[in-house]
Amino acid sequence: MSRIEVISFDAEGTLVTPDFSQAIWHETIPALYAGKNGVELAEAKKIVAQEYNKVGDQRLEWYDIKYWFRYFQLGSPELAIQRCQAKVCYYPEVMEVLSSLRGQYKLIIASGTPSELLEPQLQGIKGYFIHTFSSTSLLNQLKTPKFYAYVCESIRVNPAQIVHVGDNWQFDFLNSSQAGINAFHLDRVGNSQQGSLANLTELKRYLS
Ligand SMILES: [Mg+2]
Repeated sequence: MSRIEVISFDAEGTLVTPDFSQAIWHETIPALYAGKNGVELAEAKKIVAQEYNKVGDQRLEWYDIKYWFRYFQLGSPELAIQRCQAKVCYYPEVMEVLSSLRGQYKLIIASGTPSELLEPQLQGIKGYFIHTFSSTSLLNQLKTPKFYAYVCESIRVNPAQIVHVGDNWQFDFLNSSQAGINAFHLDRVGNSQQGSLANLTELKRYLS
């Protein structure tokens, strides 16, 4: 590796646990849907999940909370987002790792989550990062190689001097590698691709 200047982190599943996302997508939206359509919550959860799956995570709409509030005719999402704020939680090693890395490296966020969902999730840790990039909000695309190239250009750092870490094999590992970034795949559940990290403390070990 060239001399590393910047560490880039994915947000959800990497720094932030799924609790907030779960609360929004699988609790709050179904509850609103149930209220609006007069169906049981369990039924609403099924229907909503089926609609999500018809779209799938390769399409932008999957990530777009405004799209889903429109689609289910639930009004505006702001209040629901605020109500779920208390669910935001970070993985146990996150604070320690960010504190110790920020002395040596510039830290950034490279996420596919739209800003209106990303910002509430970063509230407790945003002071660690010099930049936050949302591929969906900035470029209207998923985390493609082009998005990573855009990130490198924006911060004026050569991809070879950036490390990116994230839990999605395609969007974090393959696509950032393709842009020339030093990519690490995080596999917290340990179904491990060989060479994946089990947590962010292991990343620290690789860097030192
Ligand atoms: Mg992720």
